[in-house]
Amino acid sequence: MSYARVLCVGLLGVTGHLVEVEADLSTGLPIFTLTGLPDASLNEARDRVRAAVTNSGQTWPNRRITINLLPAALPKRGSSFDLAIAAALLAGSGELPSAPLEGVVVLGELGLDGAVRPVRGVLPMVAAAVRAGITGVIVPLANAREATVVPGVTVRAVDSLHRLVDFVRGTGPLLDPPPPAPAPPPGGPDLADVAGQELGRYGLEVAAAGGHHLALFGAPGAGKTMLAERLPSILPELDDDEALEVTALQSIAGVLPPEGGLIRRPPFQAPHHSASMAALIGGGSGLARPGAISLAHRGVLFLDEVAEMRGATLQALRQPLENGRVVLGRSLGTTEFPARVQLVVAANPCPCASPAGDQACTCSPSVRRRYQAKLSGPLLDRIDIRITMHPLRAAHLMTVGSPSPPSAVVAARVVQARQAATARWSARGWRLNAEVPGKDLRQGRWRLPPDDTADLRTALDRGLLSARGFDRVMRLAWTIADLDGLERPGRAEVTEAIQLRMGESHEYAE
Ligand SMILES: [Zn+2]
Repeated sequence: MSYARVLCVGLLGVTGHLVEVEADLSTGLPIFTLTGLPDASLNEARDRVRAAVTNSGQTWPNRRITINLLPAALPKRGSSFDLAIAAALLAGSGELPSAPLEGVVVLGELGLDGAVRPVRGVLPMVAAAVRAGITGVIVPLANAREATVVPGVTVRAVDSLHRLVDFVRGTGPLLDPPPPAPAPPPGGPDLADVAGQELGRYGLEVAAAGGHHLALFGAPGAGKTMLAERLPSILPELDDDEALEVTALQSIAGVLPPEGGLIRRPPFQAPHHSASMAALIGGGSGLARPGAISLAHRGVLFLDEVAEMRGATLQALRQPLENGRVVLGRSLGTTEFPARVQLVVAANPCPCASPAGDQACTCSPSVRRRYQAKLSGPLLDRIDIRITMHPLRAAHLMTVGSPSPPSAVVAARVVQARQAATARWSARGWRLNAEVPGKDLRQGRWRLPPDDTADLRTALDRGLLSARGFDRVMRLAWTIADLDGLERPGRAEVTEAIQLRMGESHEYAE
């Protein structure tokens, strides 16, 4: 036999596509041609496969070898095709029977010594195989656990090309995936650890309930990071589809936790303000890596010291925040990753960041203004809640009466509030108050009686709020009403919403 075919999967963003690896061997000059891969990885794959086959004790066919990856139009990146290429080649040369690999997807990178190395993105690759009707996959041992997360497929593992060869010849078994490890104890930071900061904790709860982006201002040590880190602990768990999506993104980034299993908690990402564009948005050579904004998909993206970020970086966040996805320009077409995040930004009031706050600030008023102007505009535009936090004084800590409620208690209120919002808006296709367009709250069925919005209109007339700010207050008022179990917001909820919107500092302009 001089022709064989083995199945594999290529990834485009998070979407996998079935790839056929064809091998044709004919008489003629002994050359090894590989088509259907981009140039750079093509040469690397050829070298790896040749060395791995030889070093596994197999005979390298002394014939004209053509390997073709189909469909040709699909951009193929990364090293996950190696093992399928080697298997197709050996089957095509007659070294191996081809029947045992029929209808099976084979994934894995080869080391020069013939070892099978893990690859990124096995979870979405296996999911794509199952969607295409495949019922069996062979994956690198180190990826086997994540492959078993996908239902409806038999996962077998290999650690070397040699083992695959033995299996195909019927002289040895494949490996079983390691059993799922016990999940780490649930936990992580809890809201009960945050003493005082009533306004901050309340703002966090409203943000979670309505899906609102949140800005925290205040001097270093005021607890901005501590609060932001606890937002995931009061968000609802991910449903099956969301969990698969989030876990797939971590698989592609190569950052899946070793214990395996679906990620059920909303993720939290806190890239440093000096992070590169690739780290934040995604990119890299070969198989593109999702950036922090995609690793925070369905969870929280926390930008600390956001005023220190470069303007270009802030600008790059704008589009993903708008439409919930990142589009990366690549040498061969574009790659897309989902990036639907809840944004939390934190900033000091000024560049000197004096821990004592404004009293000890050494910045001139114009420096302060410039610092804060960086934030207004593109980013602050999208943020509904702004809270100014103050460091707790020791005296206050000692006299705080009741302890802060734990995250579980707050999370239960958040779930109820979200259910109310979803029930109200589902006919219009919205789930969260933050998604509702302003005009739908200003007119028609959901318009509030003028008495209840009197304070809001006064703030607007005095120029304390912009028209956009008006809409944001309305959304917040609905979330506050949902948390309070009210049919609709009244004057008290609107007033509270104004406070959450404007904070106490009006320095960060509309
Ligand atoms: Zn200062």
